[in-house]
Amino acid sequence: MIDCAIGVDKLIIDSHVHIGEPPKEAEPKNFVKLMQTSKIDKAVIFRYFYDKPTAFSNQYISSVVDQFPDFYIGFAWINPNDKTAAKELETCILKWKLKGVKLHLEMHPTPSEKLKEIFNIAEKYNIPICTHLGNDFDQIKTLTKEYKIKLIIAHLGTGVYCLDLNRLKKAINIAKSENIFLETSGNTYPLVDYALKALGSTKLVLGSDFPHEHPLVSAKIVELLNILDQDKELILQKNISKILRI
Ligand SMILES: [Zn+2]
Repeated sequence: MIDCAIGVDKLIIDSHVHIGEPPKEAEPKNFVKLMQTSKIDKAVIFRYFYDKPTAFSNQYISSVVDQFPDFYIGFAWINPNDKTAAKELETCILKWKLKGVKLHLEMHPTPSEKLKEIFNIAEKYNIPICTHLGNDFDQIKTLTKEYKIKLIIAHLGTGVYCLDLNRLKKAINIAKSENIFLETSGNTYPLVDYALKALGSTKLVLGSDFPHEHPLVSAKIVELLNILDQDKELILQKNISKILRI
């Protein structure tokens, strides 16, 4: 349990963390140190999308989890447009033991037929998909009706500090369905509070999008919400634990 200066005194899982240099702070052991001083219990980690093949990043994330199994839960990050995306995701799950997949559909808009290959794998292995959405709210809504998968919409659907209420409303509309959740990173208190009031505490998961934000700043938003402690615990830790079956 936590008794740090800012008063967040619950178990915390950060569901959106980018690991790997640059910057130096995102180096695996440096973020573990930050977790320890901040009393963040676990973090869902993936790499940035950069100029190396995604398989390189995904294998790296797997090795980081092997090094710090008490702290990290690894997700794959793939470009669903890649010819071998589905096969790579299967390797990430079976060989590299990654527990979910991160997509960035604003960066990689993807036709539904191709996206279905990823949804098929996620459904087959019962792993969650976490996605940053572009202008594909309708497409994603349709797919979630077709597949029995758990979907986490990153940044409440708004992007990173875009603070766009119209996008949030669209994401809320999708998240009204079962097994769809909104992750809080890249937003301010009023938008997190708006999502909470629209959907309730069972539908939100804490994320910081580190290194874009300090995880305790994101956690503090949850701590300040005008809800019972047990509801804060859902957002800080219990909802994502259930999604990940940990
Ligand atoms: Zn991110």
